[in-house]
Amino acid sequence: MEVFKFGGASVLDDVAICNLGKIIHSHKSDGLVIVVSAIGKTTNALEEVVNAFYYGTGDAFRKLQNLKSDHLEIAHKLDLRQLISDGILEDLFVEAEWLLEDEVHDTYDYIYDQIVAIGELLSTRLVHAYLQALGEKAVWIDARDVIKTDDTYRAAKVDWELTSRKVNQFLRPAILAGQKIIIAGFIASTQENNTITLGREGSDYSAAILTAILEARALTVWKDVPGIMTCDPHRFKDARLIPEIDYREAIEMTYYGARVLHPRTIKPLMDKNIPLYVRSFSQPDLNGTVVASYPDVKYPPVMVILDRQSLLQLFTRDFTFVVEDHFSEIFQLAVRHKIRIHLLENLAVSLSLVVQSDAETVDAFESDLLNDFKVVRTDQLMLCTIRHFEKSVVDEVRKNHKIYIEEYNATTAQLVLGKEELSV
Ligand code: ASP
Ligand code: MG
Repeated sequence: MEVFKFGGASVLDDVAICNLGKIIHSHKSDGLVIVVSAIGKTTNALEEVVNAFYYGTGDAFRKLQNLKSDHLEIAHKLDLRQLISDGILEDLFVEAEWLLEDEVHDTYDYIYDQIVAIGELLSTRLVHAYLQALGEKAVWIDARDVIKTDDTYRAAKVDWELTSRKVNQFLRPAILAGQKIIIAGFIASTQENNTITLGREGSDYSAAILTAILEARALTVWKDVPGIMTCDPHRFKDARLIPEIDYREAIEMTYYGARVLHPRTIKPLMDKNIPLYVRSFSQPDLNGTVVASYPDVKYPPVMVILDRQSLLQLFTRDFTFVVEDHFSEIFQLAVRHKIRIHLLENLAVSLSLVVQSDAETVDAFESDLLNDFKVVRTDQLMLCTIRHFEKSVVDEVRKNHKIYIEEYNATTAQLVLGKEELSV
């Protein structure tokens, strides 16, 4: 048995869904679970619906209707008559439409999950109907019946024991009956059966959870890149494929922000020693990258870039030492504001933090810090991390940029840079 995961780009439109159908059709296996994300940029569009509704800043209802017509158009192009005449896609919007007609009653995070989850429900319904139309024995299973979590909305924590029971109850029998399973990534449900999500880009993680519990032979993540590369191929012409990567190295790379996989994807697979393949959906004949146990592989320099970083330099007002006297307070504030610190540099009476620039949260964090510190903030920076760095690569990066911070350890160089286009 195997698990496939298809991301937003691989189900972008009718043509992409046809391509997915070909990949599924040509794959011979004794059982297949297909985990699917929302189509293209649907999740971003649904976030806009939530914001327009919650903050009263736009026509949430109209934005939602646009998404409805986009998905219906794909259904028409794929000629999914049954899906259309049964009104299955329209039905998925009903609860959200009720919600939007009312006043705001719930927390932002709760409302977010109720609305944003529609993306994966729509995409999986389309993919399922299409595979059935192709004559595949395929069954749609509601991810919310299977993946069970606590009630941390927008960042749900998986209840592994309950999820394992649900996998055995709902997934295994269908697989044994020779069905291909179509199931949404990213979404899950709480003990009280409320819809919840695992956090942005969480579909990889959904796939890893199911793979680990089912003890499948492998997980394949189908992407718009040939595999895991030495740098982002959309940005650098000389990106090279890395054919084999050890689990631990993959965890490190995703930790530093490599977006090719969700950071939590690797651990469940590593625990069960199940290989992860990252392959190109547009070139399915290529092998791509295998992430598995490869303790002795030597890696080329691998560069990961995070845009939109803010540097906050904190200076104590009374010349007390930042780390000795204020460390825990700063971290508590960061946790409270959901700020992820990507890098920190500690000097005697100052501390520099590099965080993701998300204007509102950084503003709120900064204003709390101002109670105790003088804060110098610089926005629009880049954080460039080079694993297995070589001097020549670092020099190339340094040459073209204003450097704000640089830090090195045995394997990893990190540079905080001005925002001029980076190209090497
Ligand atoms: N659709 C969700 C997102 O865009 C989950 C995912 O794609 O993994 O974040
Ligand atoms: Mg995605």
